[in-house]
Amino acid sequence: MKIFIDGKLYPKEEAKVSVWDHGFLYGDGVFEGIRVYSKKIFKLNEHLERLYYSAKVIDLNIPYDYQELKSIVKEVVRVNLEEENWEDAYIRLVASRGVGDLGLDPRKCLKPTVVIIVDKIQLYPKEYYEKGLKVIISSFRRPSADILSPRIKSLNYLNNILAKIEANYANCQEAVMLNSQGYITECTADNIFIVKNDIVITPPPYVGILEGVTRASVIDICKELNIKVKEEVIDIKDLMNADEVFLTGTGAEIIPVSEVNGKKVRYCPGDITNKIRKYFPNYVSFWSTPVYDEETVK
Ligand code: PMP
Repeated sequence: MKIFIDGKLYPKEEAKVSVWDHGFLYGDGVFEGIRVYSKKIFKLNEHLERLYYSAKVIDLNIPYDYQELKSIVKEVVRVNLEEENWEDAYIRLVASRGVGDLGLDPRKCLKPTVVIIVDKIQLYPKEYYEKGLKVIISSFRRPSADILSPRIKSLNYLNNILAKIEANYANCQEAVMLNSQGYITECTADNIFIVKNDIVITPPPYVGILEGVTRASVIDICKELNIKVKEEVIDIKDLMNADEVFLTGTGAEIIPVSEVNGKKVRYCPGDITNKIRKYFPNYVSFWSTPVYDEETVK
């Protein structure tokens, strides 16, 4: 395994960043998680666009332009797939504020640190895709956009981690987070969908969510499959009365939910969740960029 740090590749054991890095000291940075399926990178453009968007919002200048970074990601993936003899992988792309002093002023940081890790990921065992995840509704709220916008995929995940700890104590795999008005936003690392009367519904971005690449893919898939889909505000009663509930994320893909706060979801996995899940691999292969040439399918 070779890790990219600021232009150089290091073996795993030697891949280290400074303790003065403000990513470490303050969680000052942004990141992406991206999947590689059959030597093709799924929605690389969308992930890079979100990375540059997040970086821009926190005033962090990624020291590579878009095309340069895209070639670097493909090259690092190629090196690792070859070395490990992998077809599939997970890419973690991190841009932190870089090395500074102990104060939090970003002007003291020399330049951003860029790290690319290519590894395997299996977020949930296979049985969860068949039987579903148990989730709780967390007592930790998702911060609103005027506190820390959930649209920024930043290195500040403490809020989500607290909700995840709450889920762990309740023997649940995920936690649903509400916004300050009590509307459903998303889970700690996944977006949420419900199905009611054959309509797929997911909360709109303005309630305070990360606009997931998988979420957008599921909305597309519904349209392709002629399944009605809406972005609409969801509250606790809508969630508790849903016919089906599922979560989406780069790591988890599309995963059904079996219980919310100990109450069984009507169908798990439901027919619509299954239809979308079944279609997902075709969609993925269409929207992926081969790592071995410059051709982009999109
Ligand atoms: N919400 C949060 C808080 C996340 O961290 C993630 C990414 N794991 C998602 C949603 C899903 O986004 P994506 O589909 O782009 O991975």
